[in-house]
Amino acid sequence: MTHLPESALHELRASLEAEQVSLQEELAMYGKRDTTTGEWEGSSADETTMEEADPTDAADQIEELLTNVPLVADLQKRANEVDDALDRMEKGTYGTCEVCREPIPLERLEANPAAKTCIAHT
Ligand SMILES: [Zn+2]
Repeated sequence: MTHLPESALHELRASLEAEQVSLQEELAMYGKRDTTTGEWEGSSADETTMEEADPTDAADQIEELLTNVPLVADLQKRANEVDDALDRMEKGTYGTCEVCREPIPLERLEANPAAKTCIAHT
């Protein structure tokens, strides 16, 4: 089981859940969900009108895509990390370094509740 006190775990879970909610909001804002994989990808605000749009609008949309694709990829990565952390809480392996199996210090988890490794294995 975990070395973390129940109260700390409770707080860390609350912050992970809050982060998951805001990540999902941001993903919905900048991306669209692939219905087969359930993963998000970057999209421009209104792709459907791309063909009819005048060249300036089209250029704006492409620029938006160029910004949103890496942004959404980052958000998705973070969302996966947060999901994994919540999973580990369910399994009781949360707060343990996945490299050396040593407990991750609470201060580190407070700074990043999704941390998977101790400081030595960052
Ligand atoms: Zn370690």
